[in-house]
Amino acid sequence: MTDIIHLLPDSVANQIAAGEVIQRPGSAVKELLENAVDAGATEIQLIIKDSGKTLIQVTDNGAGMSFNDARLCFERHATSKITCADDLFTLTTKGFRGEALASVAAIAHVELKTKRKEETTGTQVLIEGSEIKEHSPIATQDGTSIAIKNLFYNVPARRNFLKSEGIEFSHIEEEFNRVALIHTNIAFSLYHNGKVLVQLQPSNFKQRIINLFGAHFKDKLFPTEQITDIIKISGYIAKPENAKKKKSEQYLFINNRFVRHSLLNYAIESAYSELIPSGYKPAYFIHLELNPSTIDINISPTKVEVKLQDERLVFGFLNSCVKKSLGALSLTPRLDFDYERGLDISGMPENKELTVPPTGVNPHYNPFDSKPSVSGKSGFTATSRPHGNIEGWEDFLKNMKTEHSVTSSETGTTSTPDLGFSNHPNEGVEPGNQPLSYFLLQDNYLVVKLYNQLTLIDIIRGRERILYETYLTALQQQPISIQQNLFPETITLTTGSAELLLELKEDLFKLGYDIQPIDKNSFAVNGTPMEEAKEEVQHIIEQLLESYKANIFLYRSEREKNLALSLAKQKRSLYKELTSEQETAHFLSQLLSCEVPYTSPSGKKILHSFAPEEISRLF
Ligand code: ADP
Ligand code: MG
Repeated sequence: MTDIIHLLPDSVANQIAAGEVIQRPGSAVKELLENAVDAGATEIQLIIKDSGKTLIQVTDNGAGMSFNDARLCFERHATSKITCADDLFTLTTKGFRGEALASVAAIAHVELKTKRKEETTGTQVLIEGSEIKEHSPIATQDGTSIAIKNLFYNVPARRNFLKSEGIEFSHIEEEFNRVALIHTNIAFSLYHNGKVLVQLQPSNFKQRIINLFGAHFKDKLFPTEQITDIIKISGYIAKPENAKKKKSEQYLFINNRFVRHSLLNYAIESAYSELIPSGYKPAYFIHLELNPSTIDINISPTKVEVKLQDERLVFGFLNSCVKKSLGALSLTPRLDFDYERGLDISGMPENKELTVPPTGVNPHYNPFDSKPSVSGKSGFTATSRPHGNIEGWEDFLKNMKTEHSVTSSETGTTSTPDLGFSNHPNEGVEPGNQPLSYFLLQDNYLVVKLYNQLTLIDIIRGRERILYETYLTALQQQPISIQQNLFPETITLTTGSAELLLELKEDLFKLGYDIQPIDKNSFAVNGTPMEEAKEEVQHIIEQLLESYKANIFLYRSEREKNLALSLAKQKRSLYKELTSEQETAHFLSQLLSCEVPYTSPSGKKILHSFAPEEISRLF
């Protein structure tokens, strides 16, 4: 018997390994850029010819390599970045597997020039298909320059497999963006066929995004931020109205590394779920910083996929962080923030002294105080979410009071100026409760000064949002109380709807409906929500079930959302119109304490604020 197994020569082994790491010019770009970052460079240049098929060159001003290292770096598993397996869990470098240069050298012609600052001469290495052709001292500048020529010259299958130049170049740009985006303190430049395409100076994150993706991003981005013991989240999300149908700019980084993580991407996208139509993609640029020991980067050769120790926790933080930003965003849709200073949603001009007019305004008025106020009126009552997720909304309510004080003291009157529009709200307002400046337009729009901005609110959609969130809370935490009917109504349904009703019986109970089957198609309504007239039940339940069926594709597995939405849609128009200031203020306070006050649960706009520029542009 003859033995047939033999060890492959290194050059062949490297070529095989290269298949995993270097799939196309873009992958080589990624590896070279990351090496330059790891070398501590502050300036990195990427020079490409013919979409990388002819030349990929990266020049950096980083640490450089010694004479011996310049040769060793092309060996497989040759790395300066880790020495033992434990180091894998304290990683701060991009590379650590010591494979990239060995792979590249196996499938291309490579020219390396490198010099350490502290040495007087540099080193040149020429290598072709893993074979060293030259290794000699030369004069060169500090740092490293690696040129990869004729990629895949000895792997025709790979070379033939490459896509058009346009596609390959877009992969290169994508890799460049991923590295350049997050390393904002490094200056980068990108050249293609002799032309400068990108030139980036060190800057902040927002500026870098704009430099890479265009000035139109300036008004689209909104900051998102959270710091806890285990995670730091920072970055920018695009406003929902900028979501795109196809691919959007979606960048998630963990510890300065671009990663793909479907669960975390979902955590971000699902925060938008009610704000954008399904199928649309929001843009985001988010950086997560976690303890390196809680992440496993070593699960794929290109290190784009990562595994997190506690992904549910990270999911929760990320999702709520984005939701919170979207909530804050909704209150100030058109304000141009100084992003670096963070969010300021106070409606009051700074340093402006408030003078309380002599009308008995209670400056300590607290809309949520259940005790009667000075005037004997309790003001509006707390909503189902007294501490809404939008920071500063209580301030808004206070400002609503004080803002008027300013007007009053200026004009010397105590009433809101009457502009001659319909439904002037001042009638019936008792002293002690400052009037709110608002009026109704075409019955369904509330026009109000919100944060010093003229704001239009679609009342019906606003109602739908309030009801939706109330019903979700009822389903998840606090069932709605039921008014028992002494003489139960009977309702009759089609067979399909009757079956569905049986399925949803428990949930409907939480929503205030005590409905029990009598026979196959009829049901006894033993109890209804407090405010509902008995006669309406048949209609509401019928329509609710129809709407639920229609939405079933929208909210595949999300029964509660579907039910809350379906009921909110039925009931939104049953509510009384806003006939008094009291009701209007109550409506506003409920809307503004919603988690997402500016789009209806079906994704339609509720609120529009006119920016001061927008108004001055009119004149
Ligand atoms: P890894 O990055 O996983 O360590 P590579 O094959 O990419 O493996 O690089 C091997 C080694 O070569 C690195 O560990 C580093 O010491 C050195 N090296 C590569 N590129 C550079 C560079 N641009 N500047 C300085 N050293 C470099
Ligand atoms: Mg590397």
